[in-house]
Amino acid sequence: MAAGDKQYREHKLRIVNIWNLVLILILLLVSLGDCYLLYRTASEQYQIRLEETGERLAEAVQDKMNMALQYLEGLAECFFNKEDIHSREALDTLIRVEQRNLFTKMWLTKIDGRAISSDMEEADAADQEYLERAKKGESGISQVQTWQMNGEHNVVLFAPTYYQGNVSGMLIGILQLDTLLEVMKVQGFSGRGYCAVITETGEVLVSNGEAKVESESRYDYLIQTSVLDWSILVSFPESVIAGEIQYDLILTAVIGLIYALVCGLIIVNTFRDRSRILREKASQDSLTLLSNRGTIEQIVGQMREGREKDAVLMIFDIDKFKQVNDTLGHSVGDILLKAVAELMRREFKDADCLCRMGGDEFGIFIREVADREALLQRVDRLRDKVGQLSLAGSLKCTISIGLVFVAGSGELNTFDTIYQRADKAMYISKKAGGNRVTVYSAEQ
Ligand code: GH3
Ligand code: MG
Repeated sequence: MAAGDKQYREHKLRIVNIWNLVLILILLLVSLGDCYLLYRTASEQYQIRLEETGERLAEAVQDKMNMALQYLEGLAECFFNKEDIHSREALDTLIRVEQRNLFTKMWLTKIDGRAISSDMEEADAADQEYLERAKKGESGISQVQTWQMNGEHNVVLFAPTYYQGNVSGMLIGILQLDTLLEVMKVQGFSGRGYCAVITETGEVLVSNGEAKVESESRYDYLIQTSVLDWSILVSFPESVIAGEIQYDLILTAVIGLIYALVCGLIIVNTFRDRSRILREKASQDSLTLLSNRGTIEQIVGQMREGREKDAVLMIFDIDKFKQVNDTLGHSVGDILLKAVAELMRREFKDADCLCRMGGDEFGIFIREVADREALLQRVDRLRDKVGQLSLAGSLKCTISIGLVFVAGSGELNTFDTIYQRADKAMYISKKAGGNRVTVYSAEQ
């Protein structure tokens, strides 16, 4: 590998690492920015949440009241065309249809105000304003009534009954306002939110508890409903909201941090894999997947002085390879190069480096040769095996081999010197007609 190439690659990897850091920094900045935005807009967001909660509650209260009224209007139809709504039959009907789970009590009231309840109690409703409204054919919800005994708030729902096209009286349902509590369960805000149905004068009709936030500063929202003069008040202590903001901030920061770390790891791993592949590619011959010249140079260069055993560098070149290319085509030439590489791999599994030096020239380096003779036999076997590769027509594939032993005790030479010696030996093989092995000796 040329020194320039190596420097260029290292420089490239440094840039890649800097980009990783920049990306992680950007991710961290984005998450910090997110936290800052969250902090800046937190109170607005809580106001919005408060308003949404209020609107939802107002709707739920309206729906509940409208449904109860519609239900009562439906029940009033049971008394249609009954001449006397206090007849035994009418009262039996009242007992049968009475809905105790919705209304605490139901009354049938005649047009003169005489009223009988489902449990046969009698009363006079002559001076109630809702009687006047029912006489006009209206149904609706009357003002809130507070029971003296227990302070319970109730509303009277009324719907007219008809006989021969005229109002014959009205059906009344008493609804206890505490039943609204079930629709007033406020979610979130650590369960410390306060909500209430209040009148125009500020009287609390129903609430989900004591106004426990009285002494604290708080977020309030008041929204009017379409029922009588009722409004919904939603209120949350600032301390709870501050706690939630803090929690959200920490969560955003932690998620951002985890996100940045995970992304960082993915990026680092991806680039590490890429640089490994790059490194492998840089040290490999792409056709035969053997090492390339740069790698063998490096490995031979790593030899140390005073080794116990001899090393060997062997190079060989295919004889008359141009002919293969010219007669059978370049692609067959490629196949032959790959086949030779495969034979090298098979015969010299234990070699420290198998490489394609370039073109049709190959190299094998073994750092420790136990037995020179045995090695030469293996080299000869490789030469034989290459000769057996089948090619079209009379073409034969042979190789000229040159090798040099580097004595363990001898002086340490550079790759270039060792290579020149092996090359000289190979040249002798070529000159002698090819298909032979020459071991370098100084006398040659
Ligand atoms: P010699 O016996 O003296 O070695 O003669 P030769 O015909 O083998 O000639 P030489 O070794 O000088 O030339 C090698 C040829 O290999 C030259 C070039 O066209 C061819 N060659 C180089 N690289 C490739 C390759 O990747 N694929 C193929 N098919 N041919 C290649
Ligand atoms: Mg050749």
